[in-house]
Amino acid sequence: MLYQRSSDLFKEAQKYIPGGVNSPVRAFRSVGGTPVFMKSARGAYLTDADGQTYIDYINSWGPMILGHNHPKVLEAVTEQLKGGFSFGTPTELETEIAKLIVGSVPNIDKVRMVNSGTEACMSAIRLARGYTARNKIIKFEGCYHGHSDSFLIKAGSGAATFGNPNSPGVTQGTAQDTLLAKYNDLESVRLIFENNPGEIAAVILEPIAGNMGCVPPKKDFLEELRLLCDKNRTLLIFDEVMTGFRAKMGGAQEFFNIKADIITYGKVIGGGMPVGAFSGRAEVMDHLSPEGTVYQAGTLSGNPIAMRAGFTTLSLLKEDSGIFDRITQTTQILTKELKAIFEKAGIQVCINHCSSMMTVFFGTDEVSNFDDAANADHDLFNKYFHFLLENGIYLPPSGYETWFISDCIKKDEVEKTLDISRKFVSGL
Ligand SMILES: *Cc1c(COP(=O)(O)O)cnc(C)c1O
Repeated sequence: MLYQRSSDLFKEAQKYIPGGVNSPVRAFRSVGGTPVFMKSARGAYLTDADGQTYIDYINSWGPMILGHNHPKVLEAVTEQLKGGFSFGTPTELETEIAKLIVGSVPNIDKVRMVNSGTEACMSAIRLARGYTARNKIIKFEGCYHGHSDSFLIKAGSGAATFGNPNSPGVTQGTAQDTLLAKYNDLESVRLIFENNPGEIAAVILEPIAGNMGCVPPKKDFLEELRLLCDKNRTLLIFDEVMTGFRAKMGGAQEFFNIKADIITYGKVIGGGMPVGAFSGRAEVMDHLSPEGTVYQAGTLSGNPIAMRAGFTTLSLLKEDSGIFDRITQTTQILTKELKAIFEKAGIQVCINHCSSMMTVFFGTDEVSNFDDAANADHDLFNKYFHFLLENGIYLPPSGYETWFISDCIKKDEVEKTLDISRKFVSGL
């Protein structure tokens, strides 16, 4: 592979954009080297600025679950564009997508659209605090809920990759209301509840963690959290920005058959456009303005172009009842075959997977929390990343990230990935 054009573009970008990127992980700081600038995408493949193609295991960090540039989504958005970009008024389309979401997800009556996962999570905790009249929240080490102040405390991938989990600019006052528990460790949560009686507004988590790499919840962890929250009259918030409309149509709630009180969305819900959402029972959601007193707003929230992309994507997912099983099966095959390749070569590896999310952790047998993820052999992952990149396979550029399997990744793509991985181990 040649990266001449990417390299030139990156030099130019650094002059005008901090670090040359609009979101830190794209800069390749974790894996080293020059970020590859992409130009276009179709199906399972990305094409870079030098005209080279790659099998894409990032899929825009999740949204492109149908693969890139799905013809029906493209057609619907093109049609919508002709009617204008934005009105700042209510539209029928917003009710249509809300109905579709409410009809697809367990346990929610109402949904509010926003423009990103960050906004969704930030608004969700404000709502939880307003609803409970309590201030503190519990979050888990390694879970990421966007970059709003309350969450930039041991926040997983981006922050972990850059070694500054507690970002400057987050005030002590804000940080002290976020209490940290350990993922998959119920005792750590119980202790916080004991030490802060009547003060916890919400427990927020990724029901399948994806931002310290893929870390599924242990058996009963979510059930026990639900019980603890009920006992303490605390709201349980599932951050389903990654898992929503991916683990199942009804997200992790449906996948694990557990009900949360507020559920946040992003990524798949916008089909590649900047969309987020948060949802819950009417009794909770009606605390939002203008119905209630908890303020939340957005100039471009519910934007018609974004809503059309989201609505079409969700409709296609709903019509295709086999898709979730299909992408889960692809993920299982990849996991099993990759594990066999590494183990045969005597390389210690733990490959976590859940639904259509997976992460390869080298040098360890188990990863069930952030410390485990940090102890993996990230140097070896970085070598693996670059070897695959050189051979036309685009993995997330950090060992703390999740690979997202799209419906366009089929037998050929899996075979090629296994083949290149075999070459990687034989060259070690
Ligand atoms: C991506 C992500 C977010 C943030 O969403 P943005 O759209 O990047 O603001 C929040 N929570 C989780 C679980 C995510 O994966």
